[in-house]
Amino acid sequence: MTSNITQGSMDDKKRELKKRWKKAERDAARSAFPLHDDKLEALFDAVEMALEDAGCDHSLRATTEWLSANGVDIGAVVVWLENNGGFCDCEVVANARDHWEESRRLPGIS
Ligand SMILES: [Zn+2]
Repeated sequence: MTSNITQGSMDDKKRELKKRWKKAERDAARSAFPLHDDKLEALFDAVEMALEDAGCDHSLRATTEWLSANGVDIGAVVVWLENNGGFCDCEVVANARDHWEESRRLPGIS
């Protein structure tokens, strides 16, 4: 009888810990974002449009152009993009945006 209750609360505790750990992981990913969400979204949109026009030349040309046009610290953003698989414009749109979209989701919505 008592063991059932203990077991139940243990599971709750584990679930709660897991939930908190997942949220902490997401918070950490989010706090590592180099720009506000709306700026990142604008960057990804701009790079995607540039790719539609010119394609990817295996550099971060469109990305760095947008960053300098918007007065952003290029180095910090590029490091973050590369850490998330964005080594050229098309990878920025594919990999870094994916990471950003996953991480910015609010807990419980996924
Ligand atoms: Zn590319």
